[in-house]
Amino acid sequence: MTIPWYRKLHWQILIGLILGLIYGIAAAVYGWSEFTSDWIAPWGKIFINLLTLIAVPLVLASLITGVASLADTRRLSRIGGRTIFIYLCTTLVALIIGLLLVNIVNPGSAVPADMRERLMQTYQDDAASRQDAADAARQRGPLQPLVDMVPSNVFASVSNNRAMLQVVFFALFAGVTLLMIPREKGQPLISFFDSLSELVIKMVETIMRIAPFGVFCLLASTITDIAGDDPSQIVELLRALGLYGGVVIAALTAHVVITYATLLVFFTPKRLGEFFSAVTPAQLVAFSTSSSGATLPVTMDVAEKKLGVSEEVSSFVLPLGATINMDGTGLYQAVAAVFIAQTIGLDLDLTAQVTIVLTALLASIGTAAVPSAGIVMLVIILESISVPAAGIALILGIDRILDMCRTVVNVTGDLTVATVVASAEGQLRKPEPEE
Ligand code: ASP
Repeated sequence: MTIPWYRKLHWQILIGLILGLIYGIAAAVYGWSEFTSDWIAPWGKIFINLLTLIAVPLVLASLITGVASLADTRRLSRIGGRTIFIYLCTTLVALIIGLLLVNIVNPGSAVPADMRERLMQTYQDDAASRQDAADAARQRGPLQPLVDMVPSNVFASVSNNRAMLQVVFFALFAGVTLLMIPREKGQPLISFFDSLSELVIKMVETIMRIAPFGVFCLLASTITDIAGDDPSQIVELLRALGLYGGVVIAALTAHVVITYATLLVFFTPKRLGEFFSAVTPAQLVAFSTSSSGATLPVTMDVAEKKLGVSEEVSSFVLPLGATINMDGTGLYQAVAAVFIAQTIGLDLDLTAQVTIVLTALLASIGTAAVPSAGIVMLVIILESISVPAAGIALILGIDRILDMCRTVVNVTGDLTVATVVASAEGQLRKPEPEE
């Protein structure tokens, strides 16, 4: 029996998203912002909390069981090597697409001088606080990112959603070590984490039932946050930053259409239509939460059930991807850095552009999978090319909407790579029929 379209989850989420958008605009026009933040926004927050709540146990359980189920370390290094190689290549291509487009279109020249002054003033305080966060990151030695990856207390890491890289490190270490001890000694732990991962996956299913409502509330409150009770503000911002936003979105789209589609066509048996309709729920959740960490449970669910990626591959590739593979973020950081330089009239030569590629590649790996994390790392990129970091004040006004878009690309990238790796490993099954 075929299910009517409106009962399919991705349509329901899409409807929630569109209704949220319409409500948000109406709220701005009719001045319902207080009602929205008191009565609608909290439900969106609850939805994000529910997803984030299970992200750490999911990463821990699925990576440990994922690695331990690989049966030997040779297989692990093959899959691991392949995954990291593709992750790095796709991020590199994303950066190049972003840089090409922003240099050709030159959106910085479209910002009128008076608007530039106004933007700098409005977002000055906000920019200063992001700069403080980045300052702390910058004042450290070159090997500090590596030091940060290795936790000194695993319980502290698992209780901090921003320390996902440490959780990944611990889980990989524990999973590999489980392969080295006698099977009968390791089995109780493997069974424990296996059972934890089953539990978490079932929780995701339950949470996804309220996803359409959660997405509605998130969108409604995001729009209210941006517009307040004065929609004319958005029009003003779009006039000044529309071209820049357009370049980011066009480059993100080009990356999906060119890079991901090429990988899928040449390296997997999946039809593009089939892939993109399967990943829609994860993309919509990514769009409304702006967090690939919070979306991870949905990403894994989609990969296993809708794309047919084996649990062995998805439980290794996806938690790693959510933490280190951020094509959308890298691309956005590159475009934003050049845009800020263009707006304040600084010329960037080839060396500066290559510096952007290298720092953005590292920055995107180090960016936490939470909303707005990308803009904090952008400060570090700006400083590496001697552009004043206060320049981020120029782009803060429309950052949230771009954050939503780049998070969609981050998640789509992870799902693409998971499909490619599964296909190369002969681990792409027929997906489950829709319930
Ligand atoms: N929000 C993005 C993510 O979670 C990170 C960022 O670019 O701010 O993937």
